[in-house]
Amino acid sequence: MSDCIFCRIVAGEIPSRQVHADEHAIAFLDMEPFKTGHTLVVPRAHVTDALADADVLASIAPAIAATGKLLVEKLGASGMNVLSNVGEDAGQSVFHLHVHLVPRYADDAGMG
Ligand code: 5GP
Ligand code: ZN
Repeated sequence: MSDCIFCRIVAGEIPSRQVHADEHAIAFLDMEPFKTGHTLVVPRAHVTDALADADVLASIAPAIAATGKLLVEKLGASGMNVLSNVGEDAGQSVFHLHVHLVPRYADDAGMG
C-alpha cells in the first residue's frame, strides 16, 4: 500500500468527493477549501510536483480545463485561481503533483 495520500485517493483506498476523472487524472474537492468548490486535479501517476515531469504535467491539462469549466458552470464562479505549490518553502504539503482550482466570486476578498 502506498504511503502517498493522493496515490491512495487515486486508488480509491481513501474516499474523496470526485468531480471529474479521465485516463490521466482525477479531480476532487479539497478537504479544507479556501473558497466554495476548491478542487484539486492530480495525475494518476505519482510525481512529486509540477516541475518533476513535463509529460505528466501536460497529461493533466485536459482535466484542468474540463474541471475549471465544470466549476464555472455548476457554481457560477466568475474567476478562478489555478496554481500549484512546488516545495515546502512554497507551501507544498502533499508531495504528489496537484493543481488547485479555486473558484472565485465577485467581492470574495482574497485567498484566505
Ligand atoms: P498543498 O499545501 O500541498 O499545495 O495542498 C495540499 C492540499 O491537499 C491542501 O489544500 C489540503 O487541504 C488537501 N488535502 C490534504 N489531504 C487531503 C485528503 O486526504 N483529502 C482531500 N480531499 N484533500 C486533502
Ligand atoms: Zn502519489
